[in-house]
Formats: sequence, structure tokens, C-alpha cells
Amino acid sequence: MSADSLFLGSDQGDAAYREAMNRATDAVLTSFADGDDPYSGATPEAIAAQFDEPVVPDNGQELEETIDEVAERVLAHSVGTSNPRCAAHLQCPPMVPGLVAETMLTATNQSLDSFDQAPAATVLEEQVVDALCDLFDLPGSADGVFTSGGTQSNFQALLLARDRYCKRYHGQDVQADGLPSDADLRILCSEEAHFTAKQGAHHLGLGEDAVISVSTDDDRRMDPDALDATLTTLETEGAEPFALVGTAGTTDFGSVDPLAALADRAAEHDLWYHVDAAYGGALAVSEAHGDLLDGIERADSVAVDFHKLFYQPISCGAVLLRDGDDFEVMARNAAYLNPEAHDEVGVPNLVAKSVQTTRRFDALKPYVAFRTLGRAGLASLVDGTLGLADEAAALVDAADDFELLHKPTLNAVVFRYRPRAGMDADAVSRLNAAIRHELLGDGRAIVARTEVDGVTSLKFTLLNPTTTLKDIAAMLDAIRDCGIRVAVDLEEPEVIA
Ligand SMILES: *Cc1c(COP(=O)(O)O)cnc(C)c1O
Repeated sequence: MSADSLFLGSDQGDAAYREAMNRATDAVLTSFADGDDPYSGATPEAIAAQFDEPVVPDNGQELEETIDEVAERVLAHSVGTSNPRCAAHLQCPPMVPGLVAETMLTATNQSLDSFDQAPAATVLEEQVVDALCDLFDLPGSADGVFTSGGTQSNFQALLLARDRYCKRYHGQDVQADGLPSDADLRILCSEEAHFTAKQGAHHLGLGEDAVISVSTDDDRRMDPDALDATLTTLETEGAEPFALVGTAGTTDFGSVDPLAALADRAAEHDLWYHVDAAYGGALAVSEAHGDLLDGIERADSVAVDFHKLFYQPISCGAVLLRDGDDFEVMARNAAYLNPEAHDEVGVPNLVAKSVQTTRRFDALKPYVAFRTLGRAGLASLVDGTLGLADEAAALVDAADDFELLHKPTLNAVVFRYRPRAGMDADAVSRLNAAIRHELLGDGRAIVARTEVDGVTSLKFTLLNPTTTLKDIAAMLDAIRDCGIRVAVDLEEPEVIA
């Protein structure tokens, strides 16, 4: 291919782009989005066997040929994230406004690390961030930045928390001088919190043992009394708790910690209060369920993901700070990006607020979604899936051969297949683990597995607003069918009877 047909900006390149985009769109619609089942059932070996030609051949082929190859070998064996029976993880069906925004932001390739690489994108990201701060009722001092998702948002929040604490209580500038040698730092979160709290502690040089898990109540929310007891113990030990992480939407149960009660404790003990709302942050658009987030407006930082319950393509998240000045502890000046020179004053340079340098214009996706659907349009999607989760839970609960494990808060439903009441925990674990494996090869439903009180369980994460109760019933039937098939291997004859 000549360079002219590889790049935009010439008649030849523009025509090649249009043609290839059309072909790619057709490939997505025919090989991927239209499938009846959410997965082909192909094994890793079968997928690998298709790629029998060199990834880097000496000479290439027509782009159209490569697109067709991708359709056949990749798209056809991808999980149908838009299929109503794809209900395993916090992996959403991406909405059309977001897909179209993704196409535009990718084609324009703006990079948010300096104004001269992304003029309109820089200004618009700041405006989207302002709108998000308003959505969570943060004060006028608030600011934020787009991230790759909850992992990065949680990491960055804990980084800022650590550095503010070390400056305040040890007089140490961590950016310049590293960690104080006499500090004994701790992070508090619930036992249901996402593993990225521990991962963040590791990456911050604190070690995973710095994360103290506080026990939860019957609804899997952090128990404020247990938090008080933990804080007292830490104080007696002379340890230094510096951050409290509340979760709005735990990964397994969708539970939301009592955010206001946690805010009280954080204020009392001068802890940085971070709310991980990667999953549940979308409740902020909902009038029916928004009160679950009461107290989030008192957070020092909030993590929110748009590639979950806001239905945007991966990746898309943001971290918001109650006081934008807190970003200062991580700012640095590079002569070629954001020089300190006075002639550059007034030009926004977002690189100082991010742990990334080159950075995608992901803010365009929620912008296009918000402008197109409005708050009410988004709320109806979110509310619809929460309603469906309640109906799905009732269906599971009513079935003799299933065991419902909780009352859903958001749209996650955790349950087990237990065809006989007398089955012991070990047999239930083996059966449900085997079903999950069998289902992946079956392809009729994509369901997650998790462990509850040491017993393997199954989980629907019902993000898709087009999923119906009929789809839930069909998924339960697929689970039953797989249960009967795998019971033979597990020598559980009663299951078949
Ligand atoms: C998904 C999730 C994360 C991790 O976020 P990524 O976007 O996958 O990086 C962290 N916390 C919670 C509660 C989540 O749901």
C-alpha cells in the first residue's frame, strides 16, 4: 500500500478510510453483533489453531483481506458483549453514542498531555470533569482527570492521600525524597472492597499488609462499628491509618457502604476519604436510587468508571478530587510539555494531573452520551437494569434447584445451582465450578463464578438494558442443562434423577 492510502488527508487516504470503516462496520454487524449466542464456545486451542500464518509476514496483503480475516478469526470468537445473555462481569454493552465518539477520538488522535496536542479536547475534558464534580455534589474547589479506569483512579487517589499525609504528619516530600523511614502507614477498606486497594498499596511501596479489611454487615456493607474498633486497635498499636476507602458498588454483590457514616469517621480521624464508585457511580444520574450515594459529596476523592454502568467502550474512567490543589503533589514540569515559563501561564496542561503522559481523549465518550441521552435517558437505563435484577433474583429464589445468596442492591445477582437441598458445600462448589466451565463451551450464556463463604457460586451482572426476564429464564435453563451434563463426570447421580 502506498503511504497516500494509509493516512488521512489526501483524497486517496480519505477514500481508503471510508471504505475500510464501512467494511469494518459490516464485519462487526455480521460476524459479531448478530450472533444468537453470546459465545461460539471455541476452546483456546481451537482459536489458536486458526492463526496458522505468520503475524509478521515478509509482505502484507490488502486491508480488506485482513479485515475479513479478523471478522472470521477474532470477531466470531469474541464474547458478545451486546448479547442479552452475556451477563458475567462488569463488561457493558457499549452504547452507539459511545462507539461513535470512540471512532472520532481515535481518528483525531488527540493527546491530552498538552494543550498544543489537544486544544478542544483539553477544554472539553475540563468541562466534562466539572460536570462530573457537580453530578457528585462536590464543592467548587473540586477537579479531576480522566483515567484508564478504576485501577488507575484508585491508585492515583491513594498516591495523593499518601503524599498529603506524609507531608502533613512527617514533613516529608515523597515526590522528592521517598517514603519516611519511620512511617507505619495503613489503608482501611471493607472486606468486600476491590483488590485494587491492595494492588495500589503494593505499587505505592506500602505493601499489601498495609491494607486493613474491615468486616461487613449482613448486606455486605462496611460495618461502621467494626471500623471504629479497627481504628482504636490501630491507634493502640501506634500504626498510622491515612486513608479510608468506601465502596459504592462492590464487584460481587453490588453493595454500597454507608458512605455518610464513613465520612464521619474520616473527618474524625483526619483520614483521606476515597470512594470507589467505579461500578455504582452511575447511580448519581438516578432519582430512584441516587440516595444510595448520600455522603459521597464529602469524599476527598471519587473513582468512577464509564466503561461499566455508563455503557461506554473500554477504557474510560475518571478520578475526581474534592480539592483540585491536591493534584499539586504529583505535578512535574517538563520543558517540552508544560514549561514553568511565564509565557505559558493560562494554558491548561493536564499532564500535571495524570499518572499517564500520552493520554486518550476518553472524555468525549461520556460527553456524547450525556448530550444525546440527557440525565433522564441514562437514568432510565440504569434504573431498568436494577429493576430487572430484582425480578431475576425473585425468579432464582422461586426455583427449587437454585439458591439465591442475597437481595441485590445494584444489578449483580449471586446464586448457586443446588439441585438437592442435602448437597454438602464441597459438592456444590465442584458442581458450580464445573457448570461455569461447561457453560463457556456451551455458549448460550456467559455467567461469572465467584466464591461466597468459601463455596463456589455463580453470578449474573445484569448491565444490559435489553436483557429481559425471558433471557434470565433461558440462562437458568442453560445452567440446568450444563449441571446435568457435568453431574455425570462428577458422579452426582441424584442431579440427573
Ligand atoms: C471495575 C472496578 C475496579 C477496577 O477498575 P478498572 O476499570 O477495571 O481498572 C475497581 N473497583 C471497583 C469497585 C470496580 O468495580
